[in-house]
Amino acid sequence: MASSQSFEVTVVGGGLGGLTAALALRHRGLRVTVLEQAAELGEVGAGIQTAPNASRVLMGLGLRRQMEAIRTEPLDQVRRRWTDGRIVGLTSLGQRCKDEFNAPYWHYHRADLHRMLLDACADPAGPGPAVVVHTSSKVVEMDRTDPVRPVAVTEDGRRHGADVIIGADGVRSRVRDLMGAPDTLLFSGEMAYRALIPGDLIAADPATRWLVDRYQSTIWYGPDRHLVHYMIRGGDYLNVVACVPCTDAVRENWTLPATAQDLVEAFPGWDDRVPAMLSKAKEDVLAFALYYRRRDPVWLDGRVALLGDACHAMLPYQAQGASQAMEDAAVLAEELGAVTASGIEGALRRYVDRRAKHAGMVQDASLANKTFYHLADGPEQRARDEKLTNFDGESDVSYDWLWSGTPLNDPDLGRSPTSSPAEPTASGGSPRALTTRTPELCVPHRQWRGMHPIRDHRGANMKTGDQIVQELPWRWGVQGRIFIIGGLGYLFDAYDIALNGFLMPLLGSHFDLSLGGRGLVATANLVGMAVGAIAWGAVADRIGRTKAFSVTLLIFALFSVLGALAPTYPLFLALRFLAGVGLGGCIPVDYALVGEFSPRAYRGRVLTALDLWWPVGVTLCGLVSTVMVPLDGNWRWMLATMVLPALLLFWVRRGIPESPVYLTKKGREAEARAVIDDLVARTGAPVEPYVIPEPVAGTGRRGVGAAVEQLRDIWAHSPRVTSVAWSLFATVMLVYYAALSWMPSILKEEGLGDTASFMNTTVMSGVGILGVLVSTALVDVVGRKWLIGVSAPVAALALVVFALVMRAPTGSVVAIGVFGFVMQLAIPAMYAYVSELYPTPLRASGFGWASSVSRALTGFAPLLFGSVMWPALGLAVTFAVLGLAVLVAVVWMAIAAPETKGRALDGDTADVRAQEPRAVREQTVV
Ligand SMILES: Cc1cc2nc3c(=O)[nH]c(=O)nc-3n(C[C@H](O)[C@H](O)[C@H](O)COP(=O)(O)OP(=O)(O)OC[C@H]3O[C@@H](n4cnc5c(N)ncnc54)[C@H](O)[C@@H]3O)c2cc1C
Repeated sequence: MASSQSFEVTVVGGGLGGLTAALALRHRGLRVTVLEQAAELGEVGAGIQTAPNASRVLMGLGLRRQMEAIRTEPLDQVRRRWTDGRIVGLTSLGQRCKDEFNAPYWHYHRADLHRMLLDACADPAGPGPAVVVHTSSKVVEMDRTDPVRPVAVTEDGRRHGADVIIGADGVRSRVRDLMGAPDTLLFSGEMAYRALIPGDLIAADPATRWLVDRYQSTIWYGPDRHLVHYMIRGGDYLNVVACVPCTDAVRENWTLPATAQDLVEAFPGWDDRVPAMLSKAKEDVLAFALYYRRRDPVWLDGRVALLGDACHAMLPYQAQGASQAMEDAAVLAEELGAVTASGIEGALRRYVDRRAKHAGMVQDASLANKTFYHLADGPEQRARDEKLTNFDGESDVSYDWLWSGTPLNDPDLGRSPTSSPAEPTASGGSPRALTTRTPELCVPHRQWRGMHPIRDHRGANMKTGDQIVQELPWRWGVQGRIFIIGGLGYLFDAYDIALNGFLMPLLGSHFDLSLGGRGLVATANLVGMAVGAIAWGAVADRIGRTKAFSVTLLIFALFSVLGALAPTYPLFLALRFLAGVGLGGCIPVDYALVGEFSPRAYRGRVLTALDLWWPVGVTLCGLVSTVMVPLDGNWRWMLATMVLPALLLFWVRRGIPESPVYLTKKGREAEARAVIDDLVARTGAPVEPYVIPEPVAGTGRRGVGAAVEQLRDIWAHSPRVTSVAWSLFATVMLVYYAALSWMPSILKEEGLGDTASFMNTTVMSGVGILGVLVSTALVDVVGRKWLIGVSAPVAALALVVFALVMRAPTGSVVAIGVFGFVMQLAIPAMYAYVSELYPTPLRASGFGWASSVSRALTGFAPLLFGSVMWPALGLAVTFAVLGLAVLVAVVWMAIAAPETKGRALDGDTADVRAQEPRAVREQTVV
């Protein structure tokens, strides 16, 4: 480097670009003079963001510690919709930028960043010759008489000759004009209000406190305008940039003072949080006309070159103007630092070659954002918002490209020969191969942790995200929608199981089957459902509720259609088994999803009411089957009709977001926050800060391994709870499925025709609807245990009575009706109860295993019932034996398991419902 120290560089303009260039050149041993027109060096009172591409350059200049002293770190980039603040896009920043891009994404007060650069330029102990700064030195002329010694002439007539002149004099560059470069300046038609709002005012107002709870970089998108805000100086100020159509006055004057009122009025009809925030602006609101430069490769004339806004001024719609200027500075210093005076022209050409295309792409992408950000509501806006949900870039250019920055040649950029010993390098390095990799940058990731103590407002008393969801008000358009969609899935589950009972006599005739052969129809389906319940419960706990949710239905629909076409009995059985595998996922996944979206105050009734879909499905199946009895190929039609609603539902289900409780437990914090914020906005709940607890560690296993692991987990969690869950499910469902599967055949055996026996069975299901409604009303009043403990044995008793009186027509119908009604008091309460017995990480699998065990058992019940018990013991004794098993299960429940009425999903066992106001307790969801 000694070879280059003989030459001098004059930088015109002491802005962020000019000072970064001066410092980088100084580090290369060059003698630098900065000429600044202003009497005092400084920056406007506003914030600025440095993305990793810029932070990396500054850190390469040895400024990390200084940056840490002035920076504020945003944890995410959030994109919101103007009308309701709904989050349409979310990108992690924080640690992710350090991990993936080897440099942070930080926010600063501009004056702090500028002061830091100025101090480093002037620091007598810094590397290379200290930069000389002349203020009140407006350059008005250039003397190019000597082509290798251009002279900048200032207003006061002073002449500053140098080997190189760099024009870093901003968007209205005088150096550019004097160079004779084309006029590329354009007016955007827009202006930006800039304001700094005191952080204490923001923190004091509940409507804006969310802004200090978690530091984020936020963009609101609306028609014709957008709004950007983020915290700076550790929360002392909220920096606001509001881009709106420009007024004539601002256009003419470039900059004009404005007021908080102007700011608020610029966003009429926007989400309430916007005026709440903007109205807190005090003095110093300024409006800037937004000019930019057309992309232009002419940055150079002999030994005069341009840098920063002077050559690539861009709209601030990616927050990249200064960052690109810093990249210019790094490349310029690399090139000039590597040559002697005779190589200057070549070095400057290489500088422009390396930078002009790159910066031009960023300019174009920023301009494209003018349209992209400001779309009026409509199809294009919806397509954009859809795109934003999985966006990984500011615009047409990806973050990957933008934040990696212009590749640098010299790994020693910015390392001072006199600087302190290098810090340890990361053992494995970053996953991204960066050419700028100074030891200072390569801080092991664990060292980043804890090095950045941003002011943290996560108070000990703050609610968790789960609590926020559990305390939301009930809204039919939000949680109600999920309840209905989940319920429709459940309806098909019921439809399918009930169908077995109706198919059995018809298939018996079609394939000429024995009683045992008929029983196998239900057995194949129920055993498939048992397998599905285990597999899907486990998968849903691993991959998420929504994915598992959709796939279960697709599998079910596919194999149901194929079952309708089956030419042979064995093939039919195989297809019923496979349809059952898909459908068996419905109950555990539905219950987990619906339960986790439901506010605590309503959860018991929501889960119980979910079971209303069951008798509706069974009744619907009964009615459809009765109507189809006279058709040719009746059983095939019965199966085929289920396809359409199942397919429709598959599409509807795609609209359900992932459960925030699940996301939280999995440590997917940003996504959990996006869903929670959206729920808060859509339910109209007051916005308040919350924390996301640490994630639960998982082993990452899938498939059978995961199922076995979860089986171990649920028993390890509590043998009592799991034994209660299993015994309740097994016995209650055994009684129910036996009746459901065999009732049409039993009645037919008693001499009724197909239609009459189907009709009687349908009555049994129909009264069940009433049973679920009553159960819903009772479950939070008498509690889960009492309801199950009384109704389940009574239902079993009703079946025994039915068997004793079935020859008396009225008596049998009454007994069937009583059974249908009371059974549906027990089953919904049992589903809610078992679901609540487990904590969130085990809920889907705990429920899934209980359900599967019952299905494995009940799967063989039709077979056992048809070929052994009914012929050998007779109906009354068979039903009595089943009833006894139910009695044993409920007694064990009474002894071994807790009541869950009013309990927090994952928390204390206090009866929180009991402490709620009566008005809240008396609201119902059905
Ligand atoms: C609202 C808004 C928000 C932005 N946010 C970001 C952001 O978050 N991140 C980001 O990277 N970029 C951002 N930018 C862009 C960024 O501010 C500019 O790109 C950057 O400041 C340009 O730096 P510069 O040094 O090239 O020019 P300037 O900062 O304009 O500096 C030019 C300097 O030259 C001096 N000067 C001018 N003429 C003469 C002369 N004849 N003789 C001597 N001196 C002269 C001026 O006084 C000034 O000090 C934003 C821009 C706007 C408008």
